[in-house]
Amino acid sequence: MMNWNDVISYANNGSPAPEKEIRKSEKEWRDQLTPEQFRITRKKGTEVAFSGELCHVHEEGKYKCVCCDTPLFDSSIKFDSSSGWPSFTEPIVKNAIKYKKDVSLGMTRVEAMCNTCEAHLGHVFPDGPKPGGLRFCINSESIKLLKN
Ligand code: FE
Repeated sequence: MMNWNDVISYANNGSPAPEKEIRKSEKEWRDQLTPEQFRITRKKGTEVAFSGELCHVHEEGKYKCVCCDTPLFDSSIKFDSSSGWPSFTEPIVKNAIKYKKDVSLGMTRVEAMCNTCEAHLGHVFPDGPKPGGLRFCINSESIKLLKN
């Protein structure tokens, strides 16, 4: 199970290589996505807390990247963090997520991106549940649930 030291190491030294990489032009992403999906995933936006439709979804399945369909999180590791955003304790596989140091807004945080297409997903924090202690705080607009 991953912990905060792994996250910091990936953010500082590079994330594990993805299975494949998908790159598209800004126009291609804009044509494919809704305006809100585009703003969040391609422009590193954030949805308003508690606004996301996946906040209170607890059905079983896999959460995939809204841009490239790569599975990112399993519903079994979703938890209610009361933060207002869907929260997960770890990625579905180790190389699903790309980690990047983010010093915007006067804070030092770790950004979580799709490792396949570099969609902005949200941020990772070290205040999640034991044993891993991670909280992946993810915008609903960045992911979609594929029900089991
Ligand atoms: Fe993706």
